[in-house]
Amino acid sequence: MERANGSPLRGGIDLGGTKIEAIVVDAGHNVLGSSRHPTPSSGGPEAVAAELVAAMREACQAAGVETSSLQGVGVGSPGVVDEAAGTVSTARNLPDWEGSFELGAALSRELGTTATLGNDVQVATDAEFELGAGKAYRSLLGVMWGTGVGGGIVLDGKPWLGRGGAGEIGHVVVKIDGRRCPCGRRGCMEAYAGRAAMEARARRKQEEGTPTDLFKIMKDRGRTKLTSAVWAKALEREDKLAVELIDEAVEALGAGIASAQNLLDVQAIVIGGGLGVRLGEPFVKRIRTAMEPHVFNDANWPDVLLAGLGDLGGALGAALLVSRRVEGKPAPVAETPSAAG
Ligand SMILES: [Zn+2]
Repeated sequence: MERANGSPLRGGIDLGGTKIEAIVVDAGHNVLGSSRHPTPSSGGPEAVAAELVAAMREACQAAGVETSSLQGVGVGSPGVVDEAAGTVSTARNLPDWEGSFELGAALSRELGTTATLGNDVQVATDAEFELGAGKAYRSLLGVMWGTGVGGGIVLDGKPWLGRGGAGEIGHVVVKIDGRRCPCGRRGCMEAYAGRAAMEARARRKQEEGTPTDLFKIMKDRGRTKLTSAVWAKALEREDKLAVELIDEAVEALGAGIASAQNLLDVQAIVIGGGLGVRLGEPFVKRIRTAMEPHVFNDANWPDVLLAGLGDLGGALGAALLVSRRVEGKPAPVAETPSAAG
Protein backbone atom coordinates (compact mmCIF):
# COMPACT_ATOMS: atom_id res chain seq x y z
CA MET A 1 0.00 0.00 0.00
CA GLU A 2 1.10 3.55 -0.61
CA ARG A 3 0.17 6.77 1.08
CA ALA A 4 -1.94 9.36 -0.64
CA ASN A 5 1.16 11.22 -1.83
CA GLY A 6 2.39 8.05 -3.48
CA SER A 7 5.40 7.70 -1.25
CA PRO A 8 6.02 4.17 -0.02
CA LEU A 9 6.91 3.90 3.65
CA ARG A 10 9.65 1.91 5.33
CA GLY A 11 10.32 0.85 8.90
CA GLY A 12 13.68 1.01 10.64
CA ILE A 13 14.62 -0.40 14.03
CA ASP A 14 17.81 0.27 15.95
CA LEU A 15 18.31 -2.56 18.44
CA GLY A 16 20.75 -1.38 21.10
CA GLY A 17 22.04 -2.74 24.38
CA THR A 18 19.85 -0.34 26.36
CA LYS A 19 17.13 0.83 24.01
CA ILE A 20 15.10 -0.04 20.96
CA GLU A 21 14.28 2.81 18.58
CA ALA A 22 11.68 2.17 15.89
CA ILE A 23 10.77 4.65 13.15
CA VAL A 24 8.59 4.90 10.05
CA VAL A 25 10.05 6.96 7.20
CA ASP A 26 8.92 8.09 3.76
CA ALA A 27 10.94 7.99 0.55
CA GLY A 28 12.67 11.25 1.55
CA HIS A 29 13.83 9.71 4.86
CA ASN A 30 11.47 11.95 6.84
CA VAL A 31 10.40 10.37 10.12
CA LEU A 32 6.58 10.08 10.24
CA GLY A 33 6.34 8.10 13.48
CA SER A 34 8.66 6.77 16.14
CA SER A 35 8.71 4.77 19.33
CA ARG A 36 11.36 4.01 21.93
CA HIS A 37 11.40 1.03 24.29
CA PRO A 38 14.01 -0.15 26.79
CA THR A 39 15.77 -3.34 25.64
CA PRO A 40 14.56 -6.27 27.80
CA SER A 41 17.22 -7.33 30.29
CA SER A 42 15.98 -10.94 30.45
CA GLY A 43 13.92 -13.42 28.47
CA GLY A 44 16.36 -14.10 25.65
CA PRO A 45 15.81 -13.53 21.92
CA GLU A 46 12.05 -14.17 22.13
CA ALA A 47 11.57 -11.32 24.62
CA VAL A 48 13.69 -8.99 22.48
CA ALA A 49 11.77 -9.93 19.31
CA ALA A 50 8.44 -9.25 21.06
CA GLU A 51 9.69 -5.82 22.14
CA LEU A 52 10.84 -5.00 18.61
CA VAL A 53 7.37 -5.89 17.30
CA ALA A 54 5.68 -3.75 19.95
CA ALA A 55 7.95 -0.77 19.21
CA MET A 56 7.39 -1.06 15.44
CA ARG A 57 3.59 -1.28 15.91
CA GLU A 58 3.66 1.89 18.02
CA ALA A 59 5.77 3.76 15.47
CA CYS A 60 3.27 2.71 12.78
CA GLN A 61 0.35 3.86 14.92
CA ALA A 62 2.03 7.24 15.31
CA ALA A 63 2.44 7.40 11.52
CA GLY A 64 -1.16 6.28 10.96
CA VAL A 65 -0.33 3.09 9.01
CA GLU A 66 -0.45 -0.67 9.48
CA THR A 67 2.83 -2.57 9.78
CA SER A 68 1.71 -4.78 6.90
CA SER A 69 1.50 -1.74 4.61
CA LEU A 70 5.23 -1.00 4.97
CA GLN A 71 7.58 -1.86 2.10
CA GLY A 72 9.60 -3.65 4.71
CA VAL A 73 11.32 -3.25 8.05
CA GLY A 74 15.08 -3.04 8.50
CA VAL A 75 16.78 -3.91 11.77
CA GLY A 76 20.26 -2.90 12.87
CA SER A 77 21.31 -5.53 15.38
CA PRO A 78 24.37 -6.18 17.51
CA GLY A 79 26.03 -9.57 17.41
CA VAL A 80 26.94 -11.62 14.37
CA VAL A 81 24.31 -10.85 11.75
CA ASP A 82 23.81 -13.15 8.77
CA GLU A 83 21.78 -10.95 6.46
CA ALA A 84 20.99 -13.72 3.95
CA ALA A 85 19.82 -16.19 6.61
CA GLY A 86 18.09 -13.52 8.72
CA THR A 87 19.82 -14.73 11.87
CA VAL A 88 21.56 -13.04 14.79
CA SER A 89 24.11 -15.00 16.83
CA THR A 90 26.14 -14.36 20.00
CA ALA A 91 24.89 -10.86 20.72
CA ARG A 92 26.79 -10.23 23.97
CA ASN A 93 25.02 -6.96 24.80
CA LEU A 94 21.57 -8.59 24.56
CA PRO A 95 20.06 -10.84 27.27
CA ASP A 96 20.81 -14.59 27.09
CA TRP A 97 21.51 -14.45 23.37
CA GLU A 98 24.13 -17.15 23.01
CA GLY A 99 23.03 -19.27 20.07
CA SER A 100 21.63 -18.31 16.71
CA PHE A 101 18.09 -16.92 16.43
CA GLU A 102 15.98 -16.43 13.30
CA LEU A 103 15.05 -12.84 14.07
CA GLY A 104 14.21 -11.97 10.45
CA ALA A 105 11.60 -14.72 10.13
CA ALA A 106 10.09 -13.97 13.55
CA LEU A 107 9.64 -10.27 12.75
CA SER A 108 8.35 -10.86 9.20
CA ARG A 109 5.69 -13.20 10.59
CA GLU A 110 4.52 -10.83 13.35
CA LEU A 111 4.65 -7.60 11.33
CA GLY A 112 3.25 -8.95 8.06
CA THR A 113 6.07 -7.47 5.97
CA THR A 114 9.63 -8.46 5.06
CA ALA A 115 12.24 -7.85 7.74
CA THR A 116 15.87 -7.34 6.69
CA LEU A 117 18.73 -7.49 9.16
CA GLY A 118 22.06 -5.69 9.19
CA ASN A 119 24.89 -5.07 11.62
CA ASP A 120 23.95 -2.15 13.90
CA VAL A 121 27.22 -0.28 13.60
CA GLN A 122 27.51 -0.76 9.85
CA VAL A 123 23.95 0.47 9.20
CA ALA A 124 24.56 3.53 11.39
CA THR A 125 27.76 4.20 9.42
CA ASP A 126 25.93 3.72 6.10
CA ALA A 127 23.29 6.22 7.26
CA GLU A 128 25.95 8.81 8.10
CA PHE A 129 27.62 8.13 4.74
CA GLU A 130 24.42 8.47 2.69
CA LEU A 131 22.39 10.98 4.69
CA GLY A 132 24.48 12.45 7.49
CA ALA A 133 27.87 13.92 8.35
CA GLY A 134 29.68 11.69 5.84
CA LYS A 135 27.70 12.69 2.74
CA ALA A 136 30.57 14.65 1.17
CA TYR A 137 33.15 11.85 1.38
CA ARG A 138 34.12 8.64 -0.42
CA SER A 139 35.82 6.99 2.55
CA LEU A 140 34.72 7.01 6.13
CA LEU A 141 35.30 5.46 9.53
CA GLY A 142 32.23 5.47 11.77
CA VAL A 143 32.94 5.11 15.47
CA MET A 144 29.86 4.26 17.51
CA TRP A 145 30.66 5.05 21.14
CA GLY A 146 28.02 3.45 23.34
CA THR A 147 27.56 0.27 25.41
CA GLY A 148 30.52 -1.04 23.44
CA VAL A 149 32.62 0.74 20.81
CA GLY A 150 31.83 -0.35 17.28
CA GLY A 151 33.34 0.69 14.00
CA GLY A 152 31.95 0.84 10.48
CA ILE A 153 34.14 1.29 7.42
CA VAL A 154 33.28 2.71 4.00
CA LEU A 155 36.08 2.56 1.41
CA ASP A 156 35.77 3.97 -2.10
CA GLY A 157 32.03 4.44 -1.53
CA LYS A 158 31.38 0.86 -0.45
CA PRO A 159 30.98 -0.74 2.99
CA TRP A 160 34.03 -2.83 3.89
CA LEU A 161 33.01 -5.90 5.89
CA GLY A 162 36.20 -7.92 5.49
CA ARG A 163 35.28 -11.58 5.84
CA GLY A 164 32.44 -10.49 8.10
CA GLY A 165 34.49 -9.39 11.07
CA ALA A 166 35.82 -6.00 9.98
CA GLY A 167 35.27 -2.77 11.88
CA GLU A 168 35.88 -4.08 15.40
CA ILE A 169 37.65 -0.91 16.41
CA GLY A 170 36.60 -1.44 20.04
CA HIS A 171 39.04 -4.32 20.21
CA VAL A 172 42.03 -2.45 18.85
CA VAL A 173 44.66 -2.76 21.58
CA VAL A 174 45.50 0.52 23.28
CA LYS A 175 47.49 -1.00 26.16
CA ILE A 176 49.44 -4.27 26.19
CA ASP A 177 48.35 -6.36 29.20
CA GLY A 178 45.89 -3.59 30.02
CA ARG A 179 42.45 -3.69 31.56
CA ARG A 180 40.17 -6.69 30.95
CA CYS A 181 37.69 -6.09 28.11
CA PRO A 182 34.07 -7.38 28.14
CA CYS A 183 35.26 -9.60 25.24
CA GLY A 184 37.63 -11.37 27.63
CA ARG A 185 40.84 -10.04 26.12
CA ARG A 186 43.12 -7.42 27.64
CA GLY A 187 43.89 -3.84 26.77
CA CYS A 188 41.18 -3.30 24.14
CA MET A 189 39.96 0.26 23.54
CA GLU A 190 36.48 -0.87 24.67
CA ALA A 191 37.87 -1.91 28.07
CA TYR A 192 38.44 1.83 28.69
CA ALA A 193 35.81 3.50 26.52
CA GLY A 194 32.79 1.16 26.35
CA ARG A 195 29.90 2.24 28.57
CA ALA A 196 29.47 -1.31 29.92
CA ALA A 197 33.16 -1.54 30.88
CA MET A 198 33.07 1.96 32.36
CA GLU A 199 30.02 1.03 34.45
CA ALA A 200 31.69 -2.14 35.74
CA ARG A 201 34.77 -0.09 36.64
CA ALA A 202 32.65 2.57 38.39
CA ARG A 203 30.84 -0.09 40.46
CA ARG A 204 34.10 -1.64 41.56
CA LYS A 205 35.59 1.72 42.44
CA GLN A 206 32.50 2.63 44.46
CA GLU A 207 32.63 -0.71 46.31
CA GLU A 208 36.26 0.02 47.11
CA GLY A 209 35.20 3.31 48.68
CA THR A 210 35.59 5.88 45.91
CA PRO A 211 32.77 8.40 46.32
CA THR A 212 30.58 9.01 43.27
CA ASP A 213 27.09 10.28 42.45
CA LEU A 214 26.84 8.11 39.32
CA PHE A 215 24.60 5.44 40.86
CA LYS A 216 22.53 7.97 42.77
CA ILE A 217 21.80 9.83 39.52
CA MET A 218 20.95 6.48 37.91
CA LYS A 219 18.42 5.63 40.66
CA ASP A 220 16.93 9.14 40.67
CA ARG A 221 16.23 8.68 36.97
CA GLY A 222 14.67 5.25 37.54
CA ARG A 223 17.37 3.50 35.51
CA THR A 224 19.17 0.24 36.20
CA LYS A 225 22.22 1.04 34.07
CA LEU A 226 24.53 3.99 33.72
CA THR A 227 22.98 5.37 30.55
CA SER A 228 24.59 8.09 28.45
CA ALA A 229 22.28 10.64 30.08
CA VAL A 230 23.49 9.53 33.53
CA TRP A 231 27.12 9.98 32.49
CA ALA A 232 26.32 13.40 31.01
CA LYS A 233 24.61 14.51 34.25
CA ALA A 234 27.51 13.27 36.40
CA LEU A 235 29.98 15.20 34.20
CA GLU A 236 27.84 18.30 34.51
CA ARG A 237 28.07 17.93 38.30
CA GLU A 238 31.83 17.40 37.97
CA ASP A 239 31.62 14.01 39.69
CA LYS A 240 35.28 13.12 40.17
CA LEU A 241 35.02 9.43 39.27
CA ALA A 242 32.87 10.13 36.21
CA VAL A 243 35.37 12.77 35.02
CA GLU A 244 38.27 10.36 35.56
CA LEU A 245 36.62 7.49 33.69
CA ILE A 246 35.52 9.70 30.79
CA ASP A 247 39.04 11.17 30.56
CA GLU A 248 40.42 7.62 30.27
CA ALA A 249 37.80 6.81 27.64
CA VAL A 250 38.74 9.87 25.56
CA GLU A 251 42.46 8.97 25.73
CA ALA A 252 41.72 5.38 24.66
CA LEU A 253 39.48 6.57 21.80
CA GLY A 254 42.20 8.95 20.65
CA ALA A 255 44.82 6.19 20.52
CA GLY A 256 42.51 3.59 18.95
CA ILE A 257 40.98 5.85 16.31
CA ALA A 258 44.38 7.32 15.37
CA SER A 259 45.77 3.78 14.95
CA ALA A 260 42.84 2.86 12.71
CA GLN A 261 43.42 6.04 10.70
CA ASN A 262 47.12 5.22 10.30
CA LEU A 263 46.02 1.95 8.69
CA LEU A 264 43.03 3.12 6.62
CA ASP A 265 43.73 6.79 5.83
CA VAL A 266 40.03 7.65 5.37
CA GLN A 267 38.77 11.14 4.49
CA ALA A 268 36.49 11.46 7.49
CA ILE A 269 35.88 9.99 10.92
CA VAL A 270 32.34 10.26 12.26
CA ILE A 271 31.75 9.83 15.98
CA GLY A 272 28.28 8.62 16.94
CA GLY A 273 26.69 6.09 19.29
CA GLY A 274 24.75 6.80 22.49
CA LEU A 275 27.61 8.43 24.38
CA GLY A 276 29.08 10.13 21.34
CA VAL A 277 25.78 11.76 20.44
CA ARG A 278 24.91 12.65 24.04
CA LEU A 279 28.29 14.23 24.87
CA GLY A 280 28.42 15.87 21.45
CA GLU A 281 30.74 18.33 19.75
CA PRO A 282 32.98 19.25 22.73
CA PHE A 283 33.90 15.59 23.12
CA VAL A 284 34.52 15.11 19.41
CA LYS A 285 37.05 17.95 19.75
CA ARG A 286 38.57 16.26 22.79
CA ILE A 287 38.86 12.95 20.94
CA ARG A 288 40.55 14.73 18.04
CA THR A 289 43.03 16.29 20.47
CA ALA A 290 43.66 12.86 22.03
CA MET A 291 44.42 11.51 18.52
CA GLU A 292 47.13 14.13 17.93
CA PRO A 293 50.13 12.33 19.48
CA HIS A 294 49.30 9.21 17.47
CA VAL A 295 48.38 10.34 13.95
CA PHE A 296 51.28 9.47 11.65
CA ASN A 297 50.25 11.43 8.55
CA ASP A 298 49.83 14.61 10.56
CA ALA A 299 50.24 16.87 7.54
CA ASN A 300 46.98 15.52 6.16
CA TRP A 301 44.35 15.09 8.85
CA PRO A 302 40.99 13.50 8.20
CA ASP A 303 37.91 15.51 9.15
CA VAL A 304 36.73 14.39 12.59
CA LEU A 305 32.99 15.00 12.87
CA LEU A 306 30.03 14.44 15.12
CA ALA A 307 27.37 12.11 13.70
CA GLY A 308 24.85 14.25 11.82
CA LEU A 309 21.76 12.11 12.39
CA GLY A 310 21.90 12.11 16.18
CA ASP A 311 20.04 9.36 18.00
CA LEU A 312 18.17 8.35 14.85
CA GLY A 313 21.19 7.30 12.76
CA GLY A 314 20.85 3.62 13.61
CA ALA A 315 17.14 3.49 12.82
CA LEU A 316 17.52 5.54 9.61
CA GLY A 317 20.33 3.22 8.53
CA ALA A 318 18.14 0.21 9.28
CA ALA A 319 15.39 1.70 7.07
CA LEU A 320 18.00 2.06 4.29
CA LEU A 321 18.32 -1.74 4.33
CA VAL A 322 14.75 -1.85 3.01
CA SER A 323 15.47 0.64 0.21
CA ARG A 324 18.44 -1.45 -0.84
CA ARG A 325 16.38 -4.64 -0.90
CA VAL A 326 13.49 -3.02 -2.78
CA GLU A 327 15.85 -1.48 -5.36
CA GLY A 328 17.42 -4.90 -5.84
CA LYS A 329 20.87 -3.77 -4.77
CA PRO A 330 22.87 -6.67 -3.45
CA ALA A 331 23.76 -6.69 0.23
CA PRO A 332 27.43 -6.04 0.88
CA VAL A 333 29.00 -9.47 0.98
CA ALA A 334 31.81 -10.48 3.25
CA GLU A 335 34.80 -11.98 1.52
CA THR A 336 35.28 -15.75 1.72
CA PRO A 337 38.56 -17.61 1.28
CA SER A 338 37.29 -19.10 -1.99
CA ALA A 339 36.33 -15.68 -3.35
CA ALA A 340 39.97 -14.65 -3.03
CA GLY A 341 41.16 -17.54 -5.22
ZN1 LIG B 1 37.90 -6.55 23.57
